[in-house]
Amino acid sequence: MTVERRDWFRTTIEQLHGELGPDTTGATADYIPELANVDPDRFAIAGETIDGQHLDVGDAQHRFTIQSISKLLMYGLALETHGRDRVLERVGVAPTGDSFNAITLDEHGNRAPNPMVNAGAIAITDLVEGDGVDDRVETVRRMYERYLGHRPEPDRAVWASERATGHRNRAIAYLMLSRGIIDDRVEETLDLYFAQCAVLVSTDDLATIGATLANHGVHPRTGEQVVSAEVCRDMLTIALTCGMYDYAGEWAFTVGIPAKSGVGGGILGILPGVGGIATFSPRVDEYGNSVRGVRVFEELSRRFSLHLFDPERPWTRTT
Ligand code: GLN
Repeated sequence: MTVERRDWFRTTIEQLHGELGPDTTGATADYIPELANVDPDRFAIAGETIDGQHLDVGDAQHRFTIQSISKLLMYGLALETHGRDRVLERVGVAPTGDSFNAITLDEHGNRAPNPMVNAGAIAITDLVEGDGVDDRVETVRRMYERYLGHRPEPDRAVWASERATGHRNRAIAYLMLSRGIIDDRVEETLDLYFAQCAVLVSTDDLATIGATLANHGVHPRTGEQVVSAEVCRDMLTIALTCGMYDYAGEWAFTVGIPAKSGVGGGILGILPGVGGIATFSPRVDEYGNSVRGVRVFEELSRRFSLHLFDPERPWTRTT
């Protein structure tokens, strides 16, 4: 990124942070009771290039639960461990147009529709290998550690809150058990799923994860191959087609950035070959996407020509 572009980006995110700050549209996702206790006014924007240049504004170090953004990373883990064919047997790749927690399956293929809705994500978590729960938790921990550079920590209150109230996810899981899509260690898998969703991340962390995925799986600062380039490609495809749930079509049309959101208020965006952008603002809309986060991405995409198919899209580290 040139100095001019960097300054322009910095000024723009500062300006957007100021402009959108007063917008209190949406509400925290209180269907997980503990999430109702988060400070709804927190707001952060961060960006990181594939060569490790980092910019942020607002509460970018404040940590929140990753929620559904975990689904993208877990999908990568499943693909790396089991390969495409085995994963595709259980989870398809088609966007549903239904809400993230819909109790629907791909009836034709007897599998979950895609890995970004809860059904698919639970089926992906079921694929985590290990001898018993501790071993499986350790496998997920190690995956997070590669992305974050430190041991992941769950928000134990949010984890417990979802464990106590996540009956809709339970319904989805048992439906999949009845169809033979997942194994019969259902409660263990659900607990692992709730734990992966309760992992704490900052907006800065998400920007780094975005830069890693934008860089074909290579961490921009450590140089470590966190996930293979092949798998990274599949993760990005799914992020583009299914990452924003039933808003994915509109998102692809207007923003055009592979992305994943979570009801904790985070959005992770990936600009292939360029870097990562992340936002955090806990008030979400009817789709479960952060209201101010969506607005930031719309504006950044427009102002910097970041849509994947924009002829002016920046695509080298020098632009
Ligand atoms: N843990 C949440 C759930 O399963 C994740 C949903 C989300 O972030 N959209 O309901």
